[in-house]
Amino acid sequence: MSLSQRIIGKYKGNEPGPLLVITGGMHGNEPAGVRALDLLFKMLEVEPITNPDFTYKGEIIGIIGNLQAYKMGKRFIQKDINRSWEPEFIQNLKHSDKDQLHDEDWEIRDILDVIDEEIKRVGPDELYLLDLHTTSSDGGIFCITTDNKKSIEIAHEIHAPVILGLLKDISGTTLHYFNEKNMGLPSTAIAFEGGHHDDSQSINRCIAAIVNFLRAIGVVSPEHIENRHDHILKQYSRNLPEIVEVIYKFHIDENHKWQMKPGFKNFQAVTKGELLARYDGQDVKAEVDGMILMPLYQAQGNDGFFIVKTWHGG
Ligand SMILES: [Zn+2]
Repeated sequence: MSLSQRIIGKYKGNEPGPLLVITGGMHGNEPAGVRALDLLFKMLEVEPITNPDFTYKGEIIGIIGNLQAYKMGKRFIQKDINRSWEPEFIQNLKHSDKDQLHDEDWEIRDILDVIDEEIKRVGPDELYLLDLHTTSSDGGIFCITTDNKKSIEIAHEIHAPVILGLLKDISGTTLHYFNEKNMGLPSTAIAFEGGHHDDSQSINRCIAAIVNFLRAIGVVSPEHIENRHDHILKQYSRNLPEIVEVIYKFHIDENHKWQMKPGFKNFQAVTKGELLARYDGQDVKAEVDGMILMPLYQAQGNDGFFIVKTWHGG
């Protein structure tokens, strides 16, 4: 199956409620979120038939983030969309001649046009964004939140580890941009990482995360949610920490040679001084004790790895 359109699907509930934007393929080499969305809309289509009491509050739109890169199976063409959402840059794109834009600039502008049109059509009081991703490393699913309290509360209810403080070390992600200030209405954003890019189960985990998200924001009734969704995520997370915070990040500059030592999994313990990677022929060792997150096992990307530790409050 290969989708060729920006909009994967739309769903209108039978009661008023928020607008939910769900994005997959913001990185073109991450098809699991796109497939999960395609299946979600098919499930929502048959739900009222199999379950006459089913109600939904508000509307959903599912879109492919980097459509051109998705068709090529690449993370991006020129630049990483999920590092490009700087408010000033976005303002410029909004006022540019769309026909003159290329690659990721055109992609971002088109995403904005689609979402703006949807906001105008639906006129919601509230906006939610769920951004679905997968990783080049194995062994972990997790939610990335903003520092907005609501974002953190929703992430807890998805039943996957919650990563705090990640946005401090990177900039221009969708989570940085989709807030009330930029969108003009109350907006809450979360990213979900569903597992390895090529693991077919990542699709099921993305569907489970969406369903738990719908329950968390109150647009479906909990009694209409099958607990197999919860089970999938709880089962996968059973040996993973509940909340962690980022304590270290290794940045890779463009055109530098990166080689992660094979075999690291998300949330694997590392100790200070342990060899983790080679960067331009030099050893890269852990600077601190902790757990490794998102070790980079693909050619494109600027984050070599993160190190996190269990969060104990504060
Ligand atoms: Zn991604």
